Amino acid sequence: MADQEHNIVLLGAPGAGKGTQAKMLSNELGVPHISTGDILRDAVARGTELGEQARGYMDRGELVPDELVIAIARERLQQPDCANGFVLDGFPRTVAQAEALDDVMDDLGREPLTVINLKVDEDEIIRRLSGRRLCRGCDGIYHVDEPGVETGAECPNPDCEGELYQRSDDQPEAIRERLEVYRKQTQPLIDYYGERDLLVNVSGEGDVEEIAERVLEAARGEVA
Ligand code: AMP
Repeated sequence: MADQEHNIVLLGAPGAGKGTQAKMLSNELGVPHISTGDILRDAVARGTELGEQARGYMDRGELVPDELVIAIARERLQQPDCANGFVLDGFPRTVAQAEALDDVMDDLGREPLTVINLKVDEDEIIRRLSGRRLCRGCDGIYHVDEPGVETGAECPNPDCEGELYQRSDDQPEAIRERLEVYRKQTQPLIDYYGERDLLVNVSGEGDVEEIAERVLEAARGEVA
């Protein structure tokens, strides 16, 4: 008998902790973490045609056009390492993307999605985004409230000597735009998946490990 598939979508505002939780969940479940934001940032850094097309939207905090992102996700989900599932982080972000994802899942004959909505208060979101610093080496995510964390400093991870940086879209203007985009374009997905009975709400506030426990329970279908 085939193992149960873990076809997970993490929903939540920018800064809700999707990236952190998606990495932890992907390790626990042994399925790939797929972040359309990471794929796009990598394309921008490498200067590919996709990167050139996406860069302006990303710097302004706007969404990259659906057709581009849907093509990326479709291609990635067909890779053999996704056969037993995946943790999608940052996709879908519009109803058109959610519909396209349903089509891909149908085409591939896959089991239903589990959609986990990470809920975090807006003041906390702004605090997290404006203080967020990332590592160029290990992709670790940190906050300036932690000791030694600032732009240009060395990564606090003892196994890494990477440099910390601030994402260009974590500046105040882009943060405002991203939250507005989230309210208008991504929040409707909560109803989309709620109506299909696929949605589990999880509090994204508090200790990272505790949140990870709640997310894992939700992914395993252990909470209503
Ligand atoms: P993230 O790392 O998920 O916060 O994404 C960073 C940026 O990449 C977003 O602000 C968008 O410009 C772009 N992006 C990532 N995922 C998507 C998506 N599913 N649809 C459209 N744009 C996206």
